[in-house]
Amino acid sequence: MQKPLIDKYGRHVSYLRVSVTDRCDFRCTYCMAENMTFLPKSQILTLEELDQLCSAFIARGVRKLRLTGGEPLVRRGIMDLIHDLSRHLKSGTLDELTLTTNGSQLATYADDLARAGVKRLNISLDTLDHQKFADITRRGRLEQVLTGLQAAKEAGIGIKINAVALRGQNEDEFSRMLAWCGQEGFDLCLIETMPLGDIDGDRTDHYLPLTVVRERLEKDWTLIPSNHVTPGPARYVSVAETGGRLGFITPLTHNFCEGCNRVRITCTGTLYMCLGQEDHIDLREILRENDPALLDAALDRAMLLKPKGHDFIIDRKGQKPAVSRHMSMTGG
Ligand code: SAM
Ligand code: SF4
Repeated sequence: MQKPLIDKYGRHVSYLRVSVTDRCDFRCTYCMAENMTFLPKSQILTLEELDQLCSAFIARGVRKLRLTGGEPLVRRGIMDLIHDLSRHLKSGTLDELTLTTNGSQLATYADDLARAGVKRLNISLDTLDHQKFADITRRGRLEQVLTGLQAAKEAGIGIKINAVALRGQNEDEFSRMLAWCGQEGFDLCLIETMPLGDIDGDRTDHYLPLTVVRERLEKDWTLIPSNHVTPGPARYVSVAETGGRLGFITPLTHNFCEGCNRVRITCTGTLYMCLGQEDHIDLREILRENDPALLDAALDRAMLLKPKGHDFIIDRKGQKPAVSRHMSMTGG
């Protein structure tokens, strides 16, 4: 392996998240505005460039790769990229190749993903109520996602459900979702809304601290602190009644930056060292120089730029988002 990627705080970057598209078939209210202007295709990295970039990071010690978006499974040719990247799993230079998806296309792709060596998926699902699902996603159909979930389960893929906690929208559903995940053998991970990108409306209306959610869940469930750690920022408990796991991602009530091991690339090839900060390096132009030494030098520069942590706050009505780019741009 070439020189590992270590930032100036001594954190080893071993996890890369890549947004393969900014487009999506849904318009979740906390993520996007109803009318989004997406990037012209010319600005988006080609599949070959995405492969080249991921492979450069893997050569520098990245062991876990997550494809995200937008919705990664709506990118044309995405399965070709995934099959190509799976060579790193076969050679043992990559431990895990995974995706975060809204599940809408899984009925089509689950078997193929399993064949490519995808062993686990994060699937975003905020509610099990058909009407609420339609309201939150603006364009999604719950039935389609549930069919996709079953296809992934039958293909033998491990599933973690990600649900954003939204005051007044899904806050009364977490107990039911925990029971359902327990029955299905899925982990559940709850996420606080993060102030990323302009959306229609005010996020503070729906912000729900997970400390509150946890207290409420503890009335019905025995939550046992767990040592389970993943390369992600979630903190886990075991649920005694189901034997399942419940994770909390709490960027606002608990800052998890000290152990951060990851960086993110947008679909235009911009490398962000932190989801919640603006520090970035444009790798697309460097990539197009076709000189691996230049790319490596850029990755070294990036390590010096990785900030200590984010500065999210979400307590003032009408404030601008902490970061102007949407989650669908940087990738969740
Ligand atoms: N489309 C895919 C999906 O929904 O899973 C992948 C991309 S999506 C941007 C990744 C994750 O980010 C999803 O779990 C979504 O719920 C979450 N997300 C989007 N905007 C968010 C926000 N402002 N705060 C917290 N989570 C957000
Ligand atoms: Fe699309 Fe995922 Fe954002 Fe929802 S959260 S709009 S599914 S990118």
